[in-house]
Amino acid sequence: MSNASTVKRPGDVKFKQGDHKPNKRCFYCGKHSVSGGVITHRGIAKKSGGIGLKLVKTNLRLFKANLQKIKLKHNGVVSSEWVCTGCIRSGLVTK
Ligand SMILES: [Zn+2]
Repeated sequence: MSNASTVKRPGDVKFKQGDHKPNKRCFYCGKHSVSGGVITHRGIAKKSGGIGLKLVKTNLRLFKANLQKIKLKHNGVVSSEWVCTGCIRSGLVTK
């Protein structure tokens, strides 16, 4: 019984909601992954004629930013940095 809390399963996460500190950020806008919840409801929604949805379970998950490591030129110095795809598409990056 006492051993059950120490067993690690593959789905386990090591952070609390809103407490996630990423080390990968976008070089230009600072975008990063954020923690959130997968919220499971059951029942029929009030707008569909039911009595309402009941909260069953909330599971922690990560919403990851789409970061790509690319070579770029910044102030005349060439380096490879993590950049989000939004900044790549908007043309901020000079390769
Ligand atoms: Zn960005």
